[in-house]
Amino acid sequence: MKIAVCVKVVPDGQLRLDPQTKRLDRSGEATLNTFDVNAVEEALKLKEAGSDVEEVVIVSFGPERGLEAMRKALAMGADRVVLVSDEAAAGSDLVATSRVLGAALERESADLVLFGQQAGDSDGAVLWAAVADRLQRPLISQVAELSREDGKVHGKRQTEYGYDVLEAPLPAVIAVSDAINEPRYPSLKGIMGAKKKPQETLSLGDLGVDAGDAGEAGSRTEVYALGDPPARGDTVKLEDDGSAAEKIVQFLLEKKAL
Ligand SMILES: Cc1cc2nc3c(=O)[nH]c(=O)nc-3n(C[C@H](O)[C@H](O)[C@H](O)COP(=O)(O)OP(=O)(O)OC[C@H]3O[C@@H](n4cnc5c(N)ncnc54)[C@H](O)[C@@H]3O)c2cc1C
Repeated sequence: MKIAVCVKVVPDGQLRLDPQTKRLDRSGEATLNTFDVNAVEEALKLKEAGSDVEEVVIVSFGPERGLEAMRKALAMGADRVVLVSDEAAAGSDLVATSRVLGAALERESADLVLFGQQAGDSDGAVLWAAVADRLQRPLISQVAELSREDGKVHGKRQTEYGYDVLEAPLPAVIAVSDAINEPRYPSLKGIMGAKKKPQETLSLGDLGVDAGDAGEAGSRTEVYALGDPPARGDTVKLEDDGSAAEKIVQFLLEKKAL
């Protein structure tokens, strides 16, 4: 059995939009998306628990320098990484990203594909659904407990009203919640060994994806303009000198909200 974990490398620190490209500025320091570390941890736990799990492979789509951040997953214990990187891919929206990632996952033909809950930069929490659709595989999202038995996965799915307990046949796609586990810290030995593990970089051509099906050409979203959010209008800022609670009550009384 093979497990693939999809991870995103995201800007480390304050997010900034580039007015020229109208995209997120990804030129600064980058780090492994925190939510995806939970997915890596879960894959490693499944491997440690099941002797039939041969490999945990980390898959990402993004700039080539993302490899460095991806090594954290190798240091934690993953076996190898595959990064799809291509200049023609810049400006890929959800549609194009799911197409490229779907092609990379088809190539891996993993029995189980794990995703994190959401990417900390774009916060879409939707890519896993688009990829599962492309792969035509069942999906369970927001999984807070995961187990595997008789060729099936069982997921306890967090909802607003409690939990759904769902089962899906393998091969399947699972998006884990950040409540699923407490990720391990990479050991010194793990960090030292990470660089020697297989790290493959693929172009769109290697996956048989046309340049016109990725990047801006393959996207269905266009950003027309960037602007500040509208001003909030009637805003009152209180410094708490001990009388803030009283002032808030007075304010609410005046607004007839109490
Ligand atoms: C017009 C437009 C242009 C864009 N241009 C770019 C660009 O140039 N570069 C860029 O990086 N993004 C770009 N984006 C953002 C990109 O489309 C999104 O990052 C992508 O659709 C995933 O959405 P998300 O980040 O909200 O991920 P979510 O749906 O929140 O992610 C869920 C999970 O999917 C996985 N995941 C997310 N992204 C990746 C990935 N790239 N590789 C592997 N796993 C992943 C992770 O496990 C993550 O936890 C652009 C978006 C738009 C609308």
